[in-house]
Order: sequence, then structure tokens, then C-alpha cells
Amino acid sequence: MPNLTRRTLLAGSASVPFAAAARPTAAAAAAAGKQTPGIYRYRIGSFELTALYDGIWYRPITDKFIRNAPFSEVESALAEAFMPADKLATPFTTLVVNTGKRLVLIDTGTGGQIAPSAGVLRDNLRAAGIDPRAVDQIVISHFHPDHINGIKDKDNHLVFPNAEIAVPAAEWNFWMDDANLNAAPADLKLAFRNQRRIFSDIAKHVSRFEPGAEVSPGIVTLAAPGHTPGHTVVAIHCGDQSLLVLGDTAQHPAVFARHPDWQAAFDVDGDAAVATRKKLFDRAAADRMLVTGYHFPFPACGHLIKTAGGYEHVPVEWQPSL
Ligand SMILES: [Zn+2]
Repeated sequence: MPNLTRRTLLAGSASVPFAAAARPTAAAAAAAGKQTPGIYRYRIGSFELTALYDGIWYRPITDKFIRNAPFSEVESALAEAFMPADKLATPFTTLVVNTGKRLVLIDTGTGGQIAPSAGVLRDNLRAAGIDPRAVDQIVISHFHPDHINGIKDKDNHLVFPNAEIAVPAAEWNFWMDDANLNAAPADLKLAFRNQRRIFSDIAKHVSRFEPGAEVSPGIVTLAAPGHTPGHTVVAIHCGDQSLLVLGDTAQHPAVFARHPDWQAAFDVDGDAAVATRKKLFDRAAADRMLVTGYHFPFPACGHLIKTAGGYEHVPVEWQPSL
């Protein structure tokens, strides 16, 4: 085996015989020029799950992004993960659970209102053959815009008109409190105003649950505070299988699983966010649980391994059959 470097590889390819051989010219295929649908199906017991991609946002970041680490370390982590030095890859993946009796959507995507490169959830629902009118329940992990904006379209109409919307009571109590809005810094006020845009005129569709509530059969909520006060994860159980839906316990795992102590500027309580992350990741790693993270690379599903300094996310293998 000769030494393979990028240089020898490129030099070698120039001498590959077919490159210079005469070829028919009429067979050129047109480039598709667009991505395929972002859908991935898997099973938990008899439940059929559909991961639906909503797109990605390259969030611009500065030295303020991580509160408790030098920016040079953050830049190194991004470089190791093949990310740009000043942007955090932030993909969005929602999950539909078909229990056989109910269709439950966990978080709703960006509604096309965060970045031009996100907002394809409705296209992917269509490609998956899921009618938004058939969704019985929406379960919200927390009230940040990338999780709630998909409840409505840009004209303020409900995208899932027949769905009951189940939200963490602690999330509602914190964000819908006008005293908290008034006390918030200007950039956070935007989040408070957005929550009022989404929820104020549909409060009758919204039910509030306490952590531990089984919001649909086999779908159990767990308190996971820190990222926001009422941030909630979901455990899905069916038969002898289970899945932990981590929400925003960690953003991109190449950054926050590898560096579980890092506190992002958008965590409302950074210490609590880190404690929650370690507790849930330790449990998932020890029990070898299947997990999905809202900002993990699509299909956002895999396992967590404990490493010397943190955790490593191991994506699932694509399964061609269910
Ligand atoms: Zn998020």
C-alpha cells in the first residue's frame, strides 16, 4: 500500500486511464440541484417514530458565547468538529411518534422564522405522508423560538389545527409572567414577545403538565431545568425499548457532549444546565440508552459514550427496514 496523501491522491487521479479515455458525450445527467427529503424512521417497541428535519442554522458566535471557557478553546473545539471558527452548526430535528392510537409531535421546528436555511418541516411532513391535521398532540420541551415557532405559520394560523398543545407548566409560568418580561434584558425580551405571539390567542388549546406526567400513553416527561427554567425531556417507552428525547440538554454534541461543563450564553441558568446535562448523559451512557437531541446532526439519534473528558455521540446506523 503506497503512502496516501492528498497530494499523491490528486496526482494519481490525473493519471487514471478513464479520465483521458474517449467517452460518449450524450449521457451527461442533469444535476438535481436540491436536497432529498430529511426523514428517518425507527421503532421503539410497536411505536413508529419519524425524525423530521427542519433545516440548519449556522449561529454566529463571539467570545461571549461560552461563559466559562476561553474563546480559544471554543475555537479549537469547533475546528476539531470541522465547523467554521465563528459559527455553531445548529440543526433542527422534530420527532413524530405514532403510538398506534395517537400521533404525537415533539417540538415544532422554526416555522421558517429563524434562518433561510431552516423551515422545511412542512415539506418533510408531506414527504413522510403525515397530514398536519392528523396530529393529536404537540409536546413542547421549552419555549425558545426554534421549538415553538412551528406551531403557527407566518400568518398566525395553526399548522396543526387539531392538536392539543402540551407545555411544561414551569415554562409557561416563567415566560408568560409579565414581571419576568419587564425585568429581562432587551435581547431576551424578544423571546418573551415571541411567546406571546404564539400562545396568547390559542391559550385554550394549551394544556400545562408537571414533570413526571405521562402526556400520552408511553410518553413520560422529566424535568431538565437549566437551559430554561421549565426545560423538559421526554422518555418514550414501548415494550422493552425506550428512547430519551433530550431536547436542548446539549446543543451540537461535537461541542457540548465533548465539553459538558460549558455554559452557553443562552442558558438561563448555566450551572443547572450543566448539572442536568451530566445527570442525563451519565444515565444514558450507563444504561446504553438510545437518545435523540433536537440539535444533534440528522437523524439526531444515537448513543452516548462516556469519555475521559466528557461524552461522545455515536450516531445510529441507517436501518433500511423497520
Ligand atoms: Zn433549541
